[in-house]
Amino acid sequence: MKKILIANRGEIAIRVMKTARKMGIKTVAVFSEADRNAPHVRFADEAICIGEAPSNKSYLVGKKIIEVCKKLHVDGIHPGYGFLSENADFAKLVEDNNIIFIGPKSYAIKTMGDKLAAKDAVKNYNIPMVPGVDRAITDPKEAVEIAKQIGFPILIKAAAGGGGKGMRIVEHEKDVQKQMERAISEATSAFGDGSVFVEKYITSPRHIEIQILADSHGKVLHFFERECSVQRRHQKVVEEAPSSILTPELRKKMGQAAVDVAKSCNYLSAGTVEFLVDKNLNFYFLEMNTRLQVEHPVTELISGVDLVEQQIRIACGEAITINQEDLKINGHAIELRVYAEDPLNNFLPSVGTLTTYQPPKGKGIRVDDGFEEGMDIPIYYDPMLSKLITYGNTREEAIQLMIDAIEDYKIEGAQTTLPFGKFVCEHEAFRTGKFDTHFVKNYYTPEKLQKRSEEKAKIAALVALKLYFEDQKILRVPKH
Ligand code: ADP
Repeated sequence: MKKILIANRGEIAIRVMKTARKMGIKTVAVFSEADRNAPHVRFADEAICIGEAPSNKSYLVGKKIIEVCKKLHVDGIHPGYGFLSENADFAKLVEDNNIIFIGPKSYAIKTMGDKLAAKDAVKNYNIPMVPGVDRAITDPKEAVEIAKQIGFPILIKAAAGGGGKGMRIVEHEKDVQKQMERAISEATSAFGDGSVFVEKYITSPRHIEIQILADSHGKVLHFFERECSVQRRHQKVVEEAPSSILTPELRKKMGQAAVDVAKSCNYLSAGTVEFLVDKNLNFYFLEMNTRLQVEHPVTELISGVDLVEQQIRIACGEAITINQEDLKINGHAIELRVYAEDPLNNFLPSVGTLTTYQPPKGKGIRVDDGFEEGMDIPIYYDPMLSKLITYGNTREEAIQLMIDAIEDYKIEGAQTTLPFGKFVCEHEAFRTGKFDTHFVKNYYTPEKLQKRSEEKAKIAALVALKLYFEDQKILRVPKH
């Protein structure tokens, strides 16, 4: 592999290019008209504009990306996450054009991209599943029957779901019909596929996922877990590795289950198997994400393995040289997704111009970003500005580093999730490791955050006042 194209933008495009550069591979960026001056464009060896700002006119147009590959003699495409990364037709198109897709084969993407097909694929592997149905249903009466068997509350889910969309919690029988209609219409408009199914709603679960890597020689390894329970709108904001609740035995069991899920679809490359873990430490298979995840850095830090490098090597047909027994967890890593969102206003996107943008630096701090001072945050794409990742010998150390790094991260021009990240890290439930996917619902209110920042402002004002009086005292000292 001599040249790769990164079919993505922002932090992940730069992240992939860094590894490619380290491996002596040339990089090609593609960009939309809104990203003309974006750092990922300058970071690449070559860059080509592929269309207008809306992603369906640029980053999602597979054919244009293939054309660029042909023109610039590209050997492989890394899709990053989002956009075309889990589009089986695109992966197939890439293969058909004799370009290497740095990711799984289209069959695995297709199977795991549909939650029902995924459940079906893993059937023979004895993987614990959330109680529910494993087929699409359209009749609310059937949903009621199932709910009676598994017990309320239930979760109506879109088979093609992603990004926390198309999910409806139903507590009572009388609400089934209405919620099902809503879920079907939401799934149809978001994914073009209205298939829904019913699962038991696990009331206080933790979201714990396992990173896996599979090569084309039949080797599948797991790289331990990531705890992703701090979420808003069913989407992750804070992730860490390892999880504070996994025992070595449970880790081994979940690791094996993840390896089996990967085997069930002949998986290749990096992937993530997601599980829910209940209060009694029972785990249930949720879904498999057939791409490099946003939160992959925490795994890289605790395992010492560059996952993108492994993806590129695997795509070239190389065998993974690491053995499962050699892998050890070293230290603790936490990631905060720094979104341009207002935590005081329901986490709504907060776009603007980054008049100040100064990321923190130092030992144990990694910032993966694709923004710089003076840049506008485009309205067309995901509002994630960066990922702030800290690494320490212990969980306490990583948490403290995160709090300090958040303090040192200077962003003006948009509201961000930075203060929310600090709120999480300072919260007793997070510090003691006793939390679940309802952290935000259970502990967070904008008022609490507001109160904290007001208290902080008050303290800062008092300190300033004290310094002022001290200065005055010095000035007033009579000269002899
Ligand atoms: P998506 O593909 O949209 O991200 P997932 O199936 O991965 O959907 O679930 C996203 C989140 O929704 C989970 O992390 C969890 O918080 C919640 N969730 C999903 N299924 C269940 C369930 N059966 N019970 C409780 N919470 C669930």
